Amino acid sequence: RRIVLSGIQPTGGVPHLGNYLGALTNWVNMQPAADTPDHRVFYSIVDLHAITMPQDPATLRRNIHDMAVSLLSVGIDPDRAVLFRQSRVHLHSELAWILFCKTPVAWLGRMHQWKTKMEAMQQQSGLQIPANATQAEATLSLLNGTAPEQNAPSSTSSSTSDDTSAATSNLNTSGPCLGLLAYPVLQAADILLYKATEVPIGEDQVQHMNLAVDIARSFNSQYKKDVFTIPRGVYATGTAKKIMSLRVPTAKMAKSDPSDQSRINLDDTPQEIMNKIKRATVDSIRGVTYDAVNRPGVANLLRIHAAVRAVKEPGCVESTPEGCARVFSEYDNAQLKKAVGECIVDGLSDVRDRMVRFKKDKAYVEEVLRKGEEKAIVAAERTMRDVKRAVGFY
Ligand code: ATP
Ligand code: MG
Repeated sequence: RRIVLSGIQPTGGVPHLGNYLGALTNWVNMQPAADTPDHRVFYSIVDLHAITMPQDPATLRRNIHDMAVSLLSVGIDPDRAVLFRQSRVHLHSELAWILFCKTPVAWLGRMHQWKTKMEAMQQQSGLQIPANATQAEATLSLLNGTAPEQNAPSSTSSSTSDDTSAATSNLNTSGPCLGLLAYPVLQAADILLYKATEVPIGEDQVQHMNLAVDIARSFNSQYKKDVFTIPRGVYATGTAKKIMSLRVPTAKMAKSDPSDQSRINLDDTPQEIMNKIKRATVDSIRGVTYDAVNRPGVANLLRIHAAVRAVKEPGCVESTPEGCARVFSEYDNAQLKKAVGECIVDGLSDVRDRMVRFKKDKAYVEEVLRKGEEKAIVAAERTMRDVKRAVGFY
């Protein structure tokens, strides 16, 4: 049996080039000829994950729909894939709760994405964490939304007698929520709920993937039953695994990056694409070479160019960054950016055309999702029965 599962957050509404090259082209290629019990693919718009960061309800609703439009436009075929909204299949939350109770908190504190997002929120909130605070103190103070007291020893300062009233009267809701810490466990539930064998994802998800494997193994061994199938991450080949931000080429391209200039969205117009690439951060070294360490901006452009070419014409000279660097070796920055921009415009033109078409057909998109949700619920209920039996709820 081959069961494929993956998800994408509806943050931002439209996927970017990193999502497309790092994950979605694999989603499309892993679709079977037909949806059969032995080879199924489940693709989910993971809206429960999206609310780990603040979301405006009306925008979120629109973004969920736009994400469905985007997925159909990149080539997800409802006859061959089960496309659904995570929040409409209530068993994701239910399994997540059970897995929460099987996952040591210590496994979560070391997740890179939690640390990165927590640091970002710390900067936004202006919370001052003293440099000498321990990792545990810093984490706790971020969760509390208060800076650790510098003079008092932390053991006495955190256990004053009116702790309970302080917790309820403090309605300051800024700072990371519990869900942001816990969401890799929800992600494990997403995967294990369908007994997925393969999970096509970008390289930024390696750690979360390993966590899902650890949770599955420890659950199976605790109950001495193969309730969960052990899943395997499937990563894009070549340079598409991790596409970097156009502004800060040492950070990954992300939907949640506040700067729209940092990414190419799949619905950007050719003019927008050319402008964003024109403004991309590069260096002032003469000529084009592929040097990921010393020339991250140029390297990112070469990798993007290579990955886009590889989708249409795998194996051609320009399908590797080294090959691109040879072809463009005499180019100056402006020439390089023009070539990369035109390559992206060309590579995304079919997706953009289909997007215009699907955007007009709201009823069709809604129907696809509803049918997908019906199928997903049937599959998820089967696993949930095994889980509940193992735990002792039946
Ligand atoms: P957010 O910033 O909201 O987390 P995101 O851009 O990271 O958004 P996700 O919805 O978290 O997108 O991820 C969807 C898929 O895209 C995942 O498989 C992820 O690994 C992959 N992915 C995300 N960013 C990149 C990137 N820069 N390069 C390659 N793959 C990526
Ligand atoms: Mg992400």
